[in-house]
Amino acid sequence: MKLIRFGEPGRETPGLLMEDATLLDVSPFLQDYDEAFFANDGLTQLKQWLKENAASAPRVATSVRLGSPISRPSKIVCIGLNFRDHAKESKMEIPEEPVIFFKATTSLVGPNDDLIMPKNAQKLDWEVELAVVIGEKGSYIERKEALKHVAGYALHNDYSERVFQLERGGQWVKGKSADTFAPLGPFLATYDEIPDTGHLGMWLKVNGEFRQRSSTSEMIFDVPTLVSYVSQFMTLLPGDIISTGTPAGVGLGMRPPQYLKAGDVVELGIDHLGEARQRVVAWQLATGDTVSTHPAR
Ligand code: ZN
Repeated sequence: MKLIRFGEPGRETPGLLMEDATLLDVSPFLQDYDEAFFANDGLTQLKQWLKENAASAPRVATSVRLGSPISRPSKIVCIGLNFRDHAKESKMEIPEEPVIFFKATTSLVGPNDDLIMPKNAQKLDWEVELAVVIGEKGSYIERKEALKHVAGYALHNDYSERVFQLERGGQWVKGKSADTFAPLGPFLATYDEIPDTGHLGMWLKVNGEFRQRSSTSEMIFDVPTLVSYVSQFMTLLPGDIISTGTPAGVGLGMRPPQYLKAGDVVELGIDHLGEARQRVVAWQLATGDTVSTHPAR
């Protein structure tokens, strides 16, 4: 199954992308693709419901806005320097153990939403990545059991502000967490749709030109290893995201480096996980933002 969420930001409705490319509204059956849904074996129940109700369930216009295919999770864990070619272009050693860092969960948005440059952004960069979504709670998961904890996979762009990430001290999370920095989807492909995560082609274009063209076969640590590894340090909850790292071809690795500017268009895709497209827009104070609007106390 291919899970989608559609509608206005923050008010998305769960749905399915069907084989015939129609979009189906599953809100008569379930509330959302969230921690409770995955924890209560929602995928099995949804599959059963679909068998009986696919023909009669309401259809949705394909022009609808897509949100993140899952509700905001408890955490987004990212893996750094997990592709040999990317570690090399970043002039970093191939790590002996996976590098892990967090992305704020508030950075999660739909696959085709605008990328809003954060205030004072200077070095805005792209990273096409395979995101793993956890389906079953676990800690100290053994590698051979790891895939049993996976609900499915999605396309992710791990946007990064390199000054915030690398030149402001402290941890990478600063450059990874701005609003709109984690467009996910178009859909979550359930685990049964991707039996082999080791040979998925992945690509990214900026303004129509290829920047990244690689495969998950370039990964240093594979998906089962990463799920097991992260679970040694924290409990993974249903709905949690592990983003598995990016291949070569990021702006930071170009000679000279090239970064995104307002008006640029980023397109990306991974085999069997669809495509996404983001337009870069300049930061501006929007109505309702809580930036420095409190009266002095
Ligand atoms: Zn990344």
